[in-house]
Amino acid sequence: MPPITIPYQALRALWLLEKNNFPAYIVGGSLRDALLGIPPHDWDVTTPARPEQMMDIFTAAGYPTIPTGMAHGTVTVLIDHTPIECTTYRLDGDYTDARHPDSVRFTDRIADDLARRDFTVNAMACRLPHIAKLDFDDPVFSHGATLATEDLELIDLYGGRDDLQGGVIRCVGDPTTRLTEDALRILRGVRFCVQLGFSPDPATEEALFDCRAGLSRISAERIATELVATLSCGRPVAKGLSLMSRASLWEYVLPEVENSNITTYYDSKKSLFSALDCLPNDASLRLSLLLCGAGEAGARAACRRLKLSNKMTEAVATYVAALALDCPATEADVRRYLAALGEYAEGALMLSRVCYADQKADFDKALTLAEQIRARGDCLGISGLKLDGKVLIDQIGLRGREVGEVLSRLLEAVLEDPSVNERQRLLEIAKSWK
Ligand code: ATP
Ligand code: MG
Repeated sequence: MPPITIPYQALRALWLLEKNNFPAYIVGGSLRDALLGIPPHDWDVTTPARPEQMMDIFTAAGYPTIPTGMAHGTVTVLIDHTPIECTTYRLDGDYTDARHPDSVRFTDRIADDLARRDFTVNAMACRLPHIAKLDFDDPVFSHGATLATEDLELIDLYGGRDDLQGGVIRCVGDPTTRLTEDALRILRGVRFCVQLGFSPDPATEEALFDCRAGLSRISAERIATELVATLSCGRPVAKGLSLMSRASLWEYVLPEVENSNITTYYDSKKSLFSALDCLPNDASLRLSLLLCGAGEAGARAACRRLKLSNKMTEAVATYVAALALDCPATEADVRRYLAALGEYAEGALMLSRVCYADQKADFDKALTLAEQIRARGDCLGISGLKLDGKVLIDQIGLRGREVGEVLSRLLEAVLEDPSVNERQRLLEIAKSWK
C-alpha cells in the first residue's frame, strides 16, 4: 500500500476522538482517493462515538461543530475552516423505496458500518492506532502527515485494495440487492468508473442494467447531481458514458440522448461521446453537446426536468441555440457574435467547433479572434460606448424610445469599426441620422 497523506485538520479530529478512547477511522471516498494519491476533496471519519459525544468532544476543544444529521449520526467539525465529517458507525435498516433506508441504527462494530457502503473501493477504513499517544504539538502534525503502511491499521473486508489496484468498481455484497436498495448507486457506480478511469466487474455491470428501473424512483435533483459530476469530473468521459448506453440508463437520466435527432451532428452515440472529450471540463457545455439534437426548446425542457439551476439552464439553452448561427468570419462578425452571446460566446464557438467538424479551422480562427478582441477590450455593449443617452438628449434633442434605438445603432457602427468609438465621432454620426 502506498503511503497516504492526511492533512493536520483531519489528524486533529482523529486525535481528539482517540484521546477520548473512541477509535476513529478515515473512511469512504477520502481514503479511496488518498490511497490513489489523489488529494481528497473532503474528509470522512467514522467512529463508535455517538453524535452527542462527538459534539461534546469537539466543542470542548474549541472547534465549531455543526449537528449536520444527528439522527443519521453525522456531525461536522470545522478545524481551521476545513470541514471534517464524522459519523457514528451505523447500520442501514431496510430499504422499501429504493432511495432511503427506512431507519438507521448505531452499532459498535465497524464491520457493520463498512457493509452498508456501496462499492468495495469505498468500503475501507484506516486508523492510526498510536495516535492518542502522540503529542499533537509535535511538528509532525503541523502540516499533516504522510503515513507509511506500517503506521496504519487498514480494514479492508471486501478486497477494496485489490479493486483499487485493478481499477474495478464492485458492489459490496450482492450487486442486485445493493443496487435495488438504492438505485442512486447505479449512477454513483458509473460516475466512479468515469472519475477514476475504472470498469465495473461483470456482475456489477449486469446489475447496473437489471436494476435500472429503480432510477425512476430517484429524484431529478439527485440524478442531475450525479450527471453533472460525471460530465465535469476532469477525466475523459467517453468510455464511461458508453457504459450508460450498455446498461440502458439514458432513458432514466437523459432520454434526449436516445430519442432526439443527434444524427443532425453525429453519426453515432459513440462519436458524440468522444466529442465530449474535445470540450472543456464544463458541465453546461458537455450537457449542451448531449442535448444538441433536441434543439433549444428540448434542451431547455431537459434542464427544467432535471431541476438544474436557472444559470445552467440558460447556458445550455444558449449554447444549443447558437448552433444555428453561422461561424463568424471577420473580426467585425466575431465582435457581433461576442456582443450577442456575452459570456457564453466562447463556449458556443467551442460547441459549434465540435458539432461542425468540417468547419473546425473556421471556428478555431473565430476563437483566436475572440481572444484578441477581449484582450484589446473592444467595446461590445452599449455601456462601452464613449457617449451616453444623456448626451443624445441634451445635444441632439432625442426623446424616449429614440435614445435607445440610436444607442443600438451606434453600437452596431462600433462593432463594425471600433475606431469610431470616440465621443465626437459618435455624436456626429448620431446627428447625421436626424
Ligand atoms: P465523492 O465525495 O468523490 O463523490 P465519495 O465516495 O466520498 O465520493 P460521498 O457521497 O462523499 O462519496 O460518500 C462518502 C461515503 O459514504 C462513500 O465513499 C460510501 O462509502 C458511502 N456512501 C455514500 N453514498 C452511498 C450510497 N448511496 N450507498 C452506500 N454507501 C454510500
Ligand atoms: Mg466524499
